[in-house]
Amino acid sequence: MARIGIIGGTGLYEMLGVEGSQEVHMTTPFGSPSDVLFLGRVCGKEIVFLPRHGRYHSLLPTEVNYRANIAALKMSGVSKIISISAVGSLKEDIRPGQMVVIDQFFDRTNRRKDNTFFGDGLVGHIQFGDPVCPSMRDIIIMAAEKHTKDFRPNGTYVNMEGPAFSTRAESLFYKSLGFDVIGMTNLVEAKLSREAEMCYATIAMVTDYDCWREGEESVTVEVILEILKKNTEFGRKLVRSIIEILDADSDCPCHSNLRYALVTPFDKVPEETKAKLSFIIEKYLK
Ligand SMILES: [Zn+2]
Repeated sequence: MARIGIIGGTGLYEMLGVEGSQEVHMTTPFGSPSDVLFLGRVCGKEIVFLPRHGRYHSLLPTEVNYRANIAALKMSGVSKIISISAVGSLKEDIRPGQMVVIDQFFDRTNRRKDNTFFGDGLVGHIQFGDPVCPSMRDIIIMAAEKHTKDFRPNGTYVNMEGPAFSTRAESLFYKSLGFDVIGMTNLVEAKLSREAEMCYATIAMVTDYDCWREGEESVTVEVILEILKKNTEFGRKLVRSIIEILDADSDCPCHSNLRYALVTPFDKVPEETKAKLSFIIEKYLK
C-alpha cells in the first residue's frame, strides 16, 4: 500500500491527530533529510510527515537538503505529496489568511546542483510545463470547498532564493509580471518529485503582503499571530479532508514521468550512478 507524504511545519503535524505515530531515521544516496520521518495513520490512511526545515526550524531555505527529503519520501513508499508552506501575497485581493492552490512556478533561485537527481553520467529531462499534479489540485480544491469559498483555486508562485525577503523593487517587479505569491522552497520540491515519479501539489498559505504594499498600517505581532493561528487551523482541517479523499494507490501519469525522459543509454551509464538512482529508475533498468 502506497503512502501519502506531507511536507510542512511541525505545528501542523502536532495538530493532525496522527494515530500510531513513529519516528524513522532515514539515509538516502543524497544524504540525510531535514529530520526523522514521522509515520502514522490519519483517517485510516498511512501517512509520512517531514518537517521541511527540521522540527526546530533550524534550516534556511538554501540549507534544506531537498534531494534527500524527496528521496526519503520516495524510499518510504510515498506516491503522492501534499506540500504546505507560508507565502507572501503579490496581489491586493490575495489577503493574509487566504489559501492559494498553486498551478505554476517561476524560478528566481541560483540553485544548480541540488535541483535534479540526474547527472553523473545519466541525463534526464522531465516535462515540467504543468509543474503540479492536476488531479491532486482537483482534490485539494474539492477538499477546500468543504470548509470555505474564500480561497484561490490557482496562482503562480515565485520561488526566490532567500533567506532575506525581497527588496521593494524586486517585489514590485514580480507584482508587475502578474505573479500571485512569493516563497522560498516549493519549486525544487515539485521538480524533484516529478523526477521521482510522485504526484506533488502545493498549498500556499498567505501570511503577509510582502513589501510592495506601501501605506499599510503597521502590522502588530498580535495580527501576525492571529493569521498564523488561522492558517494552521485551516491547514489542519484541509489536510485531513484531502487525506480522506486522496487514494495513494490510484494511478496517475506522474507515476510514469521518466518513461520518455531518460536520454543516456543505460549501458553507457556508470554502475555507481545506476545504483545511486535505483530508487527512481529501477523499473526502467529491467
Ligand atoms: Zn499525479
